[in-house]
Amino acid sequence: MQTQRLRIAIQKKGRLSKECQTLLKRCGVKFNMVGERLVVHAENMPIDLLLVRDDDIPGLIMDGVVDLGVIGENELEEVGLERAARGEPSDYKKLRRLDFGGCRLSIAIDKDAKYNGPQDLNGKRIATTYPQLVKRYMDELGVKFSTCMLNGSVEVAPRAGLADAICDLVSTGATLEANGLKEAEVILRSKAVLIQSTETLDAEKQALIERLLTRMQGVIQAKE
Ligand code: ATP
Ligand code: ZN
Repeated sequence: MQTQRLRIAIQKKGRLSKECQTLLKRCGVKFNMVGERLVVHAENMPIDLLLVRDDDIPGLIMDGVVDLGVIGENELEEVGLERAARGEPSDYKKLRRLDFGGCRLSIAIDKDAKYNGPQDLNGKRIATTYPQLVKRYMDELGVKFSTCMLNGSVEVAPRAGLADAICDLVSTGATLEANGLKEAEVILRSKAVLIQSTETLDAEKQALIERLLTRMQGVIQAKE
């Protein structure tokens, strides 16, 4: 179902939302975020912003429900692997890596544990929100493990006796330290990215995307 207006999915509330809105505004898109609306119409361009949970953005793009999305590579790759494993569409086009949302997905273990390399994780149970990315990493190294899927409070899992280790997003490492953990392996370095669905768009919409990209290039370069 194509609409006349370009649809861009962005995170409603969270670590990506503020910078994402600022970027769009600097690219000349005028809009007013009021209330709890799911769709916000841009005032000066044929663009609609869809305000959703970040978890929903990869699927909206891969199903071709929206045209563009801004999402962390960690979430994008996890959902992509999960969908591919289920035989669902998992294609997208990465238009640009952005200059925010930087973090790493890391395996962390008890701060007092000896660690000499990934083989020390053999047979361990790893608590994570990213089971597919952990599996890809561990399979490549040939290390056996099991997971404990948690959508929150991952960092307390070892202390709570639910797992031996965790794999979670880290930026400063303060949360790990506060929970008596240390980083053992970085499995992914992530940033926010702008992605497009693989659906063919009409020429006007595609031209609008090119225009946005050019402006984005200028905005990001000006900051560097
Ligand atoms: P939602 O309610 O939309 O599902 P969320 O709680 O899943 O939000 P946030 O915590 O807002 O997500 O994080 C969104 C994204 O921000 C992450 O997936 C990641 O790409 C990025 N990010 C950057 N730094 C960090 C960090 N220190 N911790 C977690 N995520 C980070
Ligand atoms: Zn989320």
